Parts: sequence; structure tokens; C-alpha cells
Amino acid sequence: MELIPDRMRAAVLFGPGDIRVTERPVPVPGPDEVLVRVAMCGTCGTDLKIFDGHFPLTPPFGSFTPGHEWTGTVAAAGSGVDEFAPGDRVCIEAHSGCGRCDNCLAGRYTACLNYGNQAKGHRATGMTTDGGFAEFAVHHVSALYRLPPELSVEDGVLLTTAGTGLYGIDVAGGYVAGLDVVVFGPGPVGLTTVQALKALGAGRVILVGTRTSRLELGTRPGADHVINAALADPVPAILELTEGAGADVTIECSGGLGVPQQCAEVTKRGGKIVVVAFYPDKVTFDLSAVVRKDVSIYTSRGEGGNNVKRAVALAAAGKLRGAEMITHRFPLEEIAEAFRVVRERDGDPVKVVLVP
Ligand SMILES: [Zn+2]
Ligand SMILES: [Zn+2]
Repeated sequence: MELIPDRMRAAVLFGPGDIRVTERPVPVPGPDEVLVRVAMCGTCGTDLKIFDGHFPLTPPFGSFTPGHEWTGTVAAAGSGVDEFAPGDRVCIEAHSGCGRCDNCLAGRYTACLNYGNQAKGHRATGMTTDGGFAEFAVHHVSALYRLPPELSVEDGVLLTTAGTGLYGIDVAGGYVAGLDVVVFGPGPVGLTTVQALKALGAGRVILVGTRTSRLELGTRPGADHVINAALADPVPAILELTEGAGADVTIECSGGLGVPQQCAEVTKRGGKIVVVAFYPDKVTFDLSAVVRKDVSIYTSRGEGGNNVKRAVALAAAGKLRGAEMITHRFPLEEIAEAFRVVRERDGDPVKVVLVP
């Protein structure tokens, strides 16, 4: 069993735009908690909101370590934990519900009614509790998944992300065999969603984005068509590819303010729109057209519904390949620089990771 030090290096948010690596005590796992030695932690747009101080219910500045997409090796298990033992490689989902509210009882723990209330047992790593931009992190046993030996750390760090798209598919009814699906936004969520859709037997998968490099990455996991929306209006192109009917399902992962309108136009009568993105401002689109076409709109937050478990299974079967999405890696000490790269899209990053 590995010797656990008393102190560790951890990135701490000291104020808006001020994150630094400092020495902190290694957290001690409480009942039903697991201490994980972090091997890698991914960054995403949510981290930028946290970094800027614009995320609700984060712990106070000067004590809070963000990072909600991480993977590592179990260092110690708290009391009551026999599911994992030191040495086990794990990946995570970020959210762990309180387990006592109506939504948690119905399995909807990313919509926990006690969100942010640690006293009642809710925690969202790197958002409402300390996360993975550190050498060690404590996590609730319910939100850990064993990483199969054939999967790398790089694969593992993308499984939280993959769970987001899978949860979106799940809430919209799942079972996509034979359906034509449009995915807007070839970021890590969109790209893993494309991979998952092909694994689930989707008919035509059409990926829409604005950056050629990402769209090329999208053809590798198996998008049947990619459309560069910076060069041409994607709506007529999608309608042409679907014989004028539109897609059975449209999944919005882009967060572009104009994209919901495009979703409304490219989804066929009786089809479904799944929104998993966040937007920089309020969105305007023709909701009446959606109603007229009898289209259903679904939203989902995070990687609920035990979908990280499904992501692990798909990855173990070679159907999800997260590692190829990692374009940039930085040592923990360079976390501010990593955030700059994500924000400015410097060097066309797809997934930027930090290694403690
Ligand atoms: Zn994220
Ligand atoms: Zn709850």
C-alpha cells in the first residue's frame, strides 16, 4: 500500500482570474468516500466560468480547488467502502446526489434538489467541493468507476465528458439504432457523442461545426457527414442529406446562440432536440415552429443516469476513443496558462489536460 503524504500540491482559486498551485493538506476520506491520487484532470468551459468567479455555489476563494474531469488511482478507502481498494484505477462522474431528495430517489441526481448542500450529502467535485486540479482528491464512492486495464489514463479522463452526451441520449429515450442524428458542436462532448451514436447503431450521423480541424477529428470516430457552418448554411445541407425530412434527433453541444434555431429547422416532424450545451446569453429561436412540428425538446445536465458506466463499457469495447482528443497537456503548475489556451483556443485545442 502506498504511503500517503500529509501535504500535497493543489491549484487553489484565490479570486476571479487568480489560480495558483499551493501546498495543502491531503484530504482524509470520510465514510463512503475514497481518496484518489489524481493522474490527470481535464479542463472545459465550465472551468473558465469557475476561474472567472461566475459559477454558483463554489466554495470560498482561497480554499477551493476546481477540476471536475479527472482520473487516477485509489490511495485509501474510507469506512464503509469495500467496492474499491488502494491501487484500483478509477474514473469519475462529477456529481453525487444527496440520495434523499425526490429527484435523487428517482435517479436524477444531477438535478439534486440539495445541489451544493454538503451537509445534506450533495457534492459536485471541482464545482461545489474540492476537485482534481491537485495531487489527491476525495470522492464519493457512488461516483467512481473502475477503469479497465485496456484503457489508458488519457481514455479515462474523457469518460466523464463522454457520460454527458450519453446522458443526453438517455434522457431523450436512448436506443438510437437506425436513427439519423445531427450533432452540433465538435468539442469533446460532441465528438464523444458522435462515437457513442455510431456504437449505438445510428443511421446517418451528421456533425456540424466551424473549425475544420475538429470536424476532421469528427470523421475519425465515424460521423458520416461533416458540415462546416463557417463556410455554408448547415440547414439546407442537412435537409438535403435527409431527403428534406430532417433528422430524427438533433443534439446541441455547441452553445452557439444561433444554433437552437438551426436545430428547430433541421429536426424532422415528431423528432427530438437534445440540448446539453450552456449559452453565453439568452437564446432566441422560433419555438412555435418546434411546436407546429410536434418536436420534443430535452435537456440534460452533466453525466447522470449512471452513464459514465456505459461510457466505460463503450470505451473498453474500443467504441469510444478519448485519448485522441487530448491535444494539450500541462503540468499542474501551468494551470493558468492551460486556462488561457482553452479560452483563446490557442493552438486549436480539443481537450486540454493537467498532470499533477
Ligand atoms: Zn466539464
Ligand atoms: Zn438529492
